Amino acid sequence: MKSYKMYINGEWVDAVSGKTMPTYNPSTGEEYGLVPVADKEDVDKAVKAASAALPEWAKKTQQDRAKLIMRLAAQVREHAEELVELEVYEHGTPVMLARGFAMAAADQLEYIASISRGLMGQVLPHSMPNTVGYLKRVPIGVCAVITPWNVPLMMMLSMVGPAAVTGNTCILKPASVNSILGVKFIELMGKAGFPKGVVNLITGPGGSVGDALSTHPGIDMIRFTGASDTGKVILKAASQTAKKCVMELGGNNPVIVCEDANVEKAAKMQAGRHYGNSAQNCSTPGRYYVHEKVYDKFVEVFTEEVKKIKVGLPWEESTGMGPMANKQQLERVNYLINTAKEQGARIVYGGEKPKDAALEKGFFLMPAVIADCTHDMTIAREEIFGPVGVILKFSSEEEVIKLANDSEYGLCAGVWSEDGAKALRMTDDLRVDSVFINMPRMMTSEFPWGGNVKESGVGKSDSVCGMEEFTDLKFICTSYDK
Ligand code: NDP
Repeated sequence: MKSYKMYINGEWVDAVSGKTMPTYNPSTGEEYGLVPVADKEDVDKAVKAASAALPEWAKKTQQDRAKLIMRLAAQVREHAEELVELEVYEHGTPVMLARGFAMAAADQLEYIASISRGLMGQVLPHSMPNTVGYLKRVPIGVCAVITPWNVPLMMMLSMVGPAAVTGNTCILKPASVNSILGVKFIELMGKAGFPKGVVNLITGPGGSVGDALSTHPGIDMIRFTGASDTGKVILKAASQTAKKCVMELGGNNPVIVCEDANVEKAAKMQAGRHYGNSAQNCSTPGRYYVHEKVYDKFVEVFTEEVKKIKVGLPWEESTGMGPMANKQQLERVNYLINTAKEQGARIVYGGEKPKDAALEKGFFLMPAVIADCTHDMTIAREEIFGPVGVILKFSSEEEVIKLANDSEYGLCAGVWSEDGAKALRMTDDLRVDSVFINMPRMMTSEFPWGGNVKESGVGKSDSVCGMEEFTDLKFICTSYDK
């Protein structure tokens, strides 16, 4: 089994303690590689390196920084197959999807580089004569980037890319379960020519390494994506030194299918999108509220689509859904399915271990459809983060808005209706950051994601809005009086 190192100040290093931990292949349950287990001392070294690199990096022209991001995009394209291999073997992403992720990663980096050159400040009128004031965008400083395991490559680059391009220096702490993807990503940044100390990589458990980052006085900003509960722990820790925190957190996203919807299209499209990446996406619908008049039809068509999904080993080209990314997540989803059964829900399809002997040792689960759920069931209340479609019945617009909004999350929602006015009315009434009408959620780099609704996040990610989060507006005022 191969051992990997961390990247601090432009050098590949072991943890000071010499300790390592394994990552696993979720398709076989076997150990995949070893990464260092950092402690406070390693974190401190990385912070010192990032602080030392900051002044020069922040003073580089925007054009120069953008060029490096373009070179990184070229590296991602050149080494796409190595990234795909890690996505497949360390995360369980089906190979076809992993190829799509690698290309989307390069495209997103090119987009990040291009929009960074158009970031604008502001010029404001001043109440004094012959005086002008302006707001200039400047980097925040040293930024800790803590990423989740669910879409590892995309998560890392969508946070490290905008942080670095705007003149911040970074310390990346990837999720433990797919740390080696973090190693590969940072290796490509090194190859692209990022100066030493601008990006650093620390591996190790979130509880200790994450805490060392969140409390370190040398860190100015935390950019985190992960569970809401972890986010709250980080917010508390980071408050000790008043760090800026931007966080994309959990979701339990409602999708409302009205009686006047194109039900066939809604069921087919939602089922087609739901189970990609084993539904381990923050934007995956957690609750399908379907009007009683079209309920049976929706359940039937949705289930027929789900039956077409081929569960298999992720390196086989025909596989539509691979394993879940880790054992804990599989156990949690199994618990939620069993609880749903006990609470009276109807398992329409799936939810059991596949029968194929080749999948015996991996963290596989057949995609599940669970109908006749009620709003108070555990499976409808909690974020699932696994291949389960939860279907509930409603009878009026007023009722469904109330149910949809009754959640501690507010990430995104969907509405299916052929009545445009009604759908727009619902977008106003739904307390979420994004709403998709007559389409499943489709995220694209150009639009912001996340936001500030309930426990789903703090600040924006992606797009120009997400990039601006990595900058401060510095006020500069000058007189041009004689
Ligand atoms: P976690 O919150 O468990 O972990 C995320 C990261 O935080 C990991 O790197 C983890 O390290 C680290 N971490 C854990 N504890 C701490 C701590 N005390 N201090 C600092 N860092 C810590 O999330 P998951 O990885 O399980 O990801 C799934 C969650 O992410 C879901 O809730 C999902 O909704 C959310 N998510 C939200 C997105 C959005 O856009 N809103 C997008 C993607 C995911 P380690 O791996 O070592 O435990």
